[in-house]
Amino acid sequence: MNTANSVRLFAKARASIPGGVNSPVRACRAVGCDPLFVQKAAGCLITDVDGNTFIDMVSSWGPLILGHAHPEVVAAIRRTAALGTSFGAPSPLEVELAELLCSALPSLDMVRFVNSGTEATMSAIRLARAHTGRNIVVKFDGCYHGHADSFLVRAGSGLITLGIPGSPGVPDDIVKNTVSIPYNDIPTFKATLGERGGEIACVIVEPVAGNMGVVLPEPGFLETLRTETAARGIVLIFDEVITGFRLAYGGAQTRFGIEPDLTTLGKIIGGGLPVAAYGGKQALMNKVAPEGPVYQAGTLSGNPLAMAAGITMLKLLHEPGFYEELEAKANRLADGLAERAQAAGVPLTLNRIGSMMTCFFSRGPVRDYNSAMTANTDMYARHYRSMLADGIWLGPSQFEAFFLSAAHEERHLQKILDAAERSFRNLMHV
Ligand code: PMP
Repeated sequence: MNTANSVRLFAKARASIPGGVNSPVRACRAVGCDPLFVQKAAGCLITDVDGNTFIDMVSSWGPLILGHAHPEVVAAIRRTAALGTSFGAPSPLEVELAELLCSALPSLDMVRFVNSGTEATMSAIRLARAHTGRNIVVKFDGCYHGHADSFLVRAGSGLITLGIPGSPGVPDDIVKNTVSIPYNDIPTFKATLGERGGEIACVIVEPVAGNMGVVLPEPGFLETLRTETAARGIVLIFDEVITGFRLAYGGAQTRFGIEPDLTTLGKIIGGGLPVAAYGGKQALMNKVAPEGPVYQAGTLSGNPLAMAAGITMLKLLHEPGFYEELEAKANRLADGLAERAQAAGVPLTLNRIGSMMTCFFSRGPVRDYNSAMTANTDMYARHYRSMLADGIWLGPSQFEAFFLSAAHEERHLQKILDAAERSFRNLMHV
């Protein structure tokens, strides 16, 4: 594969951007590659600056559930841009998207728009702390909630990929207020609340973990979080930055039938533009400034282009049968991958729900951070490179999800399966 233009750009980028990238996992270090620079993308296809085209399984890490450059989303952005790109004042599109979100998720009466998932989770814990007058945040090992100081404790995503537990620059004084415990471990959760319940402001969780690879909540886990937090006046936050509008129109909370106190959303709700939100019941959300005392603000928040993209996206997702069809495709892909791995004798644990999945190179089961870490990352790196050479663009880390989009057609799935079959066979012959 000719990658001369990417190689040249990467060398230039490293001189002006740390590591040559604006988000660490993009550097592809864990899979032993240099990044390919993207020229353009349409549907499920992504093309690099050397003209190589790949079937994209990353979907911009989740937002592009309709595929890249969906014509209606692009048209909405164009129409809106012609009327101005930012006002620093309220505009009608914000109200429309807020209403769409509140009608989609039963736990939302009100939402506040921000510009990234990190801002949403950071603001949600501030609100929870203000509401309870307590400081401790409980999170789960391997979950990722953005890069705010409080969350960089045994976090997932790029921190697992780079093998670092936290980050320098985060004061101990802040980290001492974060307690991270194993996902799916009900006894440890109950014990933590039993010991420190009176100090805990909130419990934040990815209702389906996507940032240590996909890990599903075991029966009873989310239910226990709900009942135990409610009993102690602790705010339960579902971080649905990935799962919102991915697992169902109403997110994981609708799929599992559990209402958190606060929800964070991002990715899909902006149609591929930078937007996120946090929301919940009126009594809590009315504590946010200017209605209440909890300060949170943003120059570009509620940006009209992002709102227009989000509104168009959500309307398309609301069409009958959308999620059923996507899920059926994901199911066929997952079954096909599992069959091929088995035939080749590759140890593979495939965790999937809806259109998000991870192939762990491990005998499994993968149910938490420790079991995720048993995956063979060298094998994943070889698989990644083989798939890339065969025209398939996977996430450059074992500990991330694949995201299927409506733009993936049967012929694309077949190509993915054919490439995986070759890769799996070769993996066992090294
Ligand atoms: N929460 C979750 C569950 C996420 O997956 C992410 C990002 N992948 C974030 C929060 C942070 O979002 P952002 O990268 O937009 O800051």
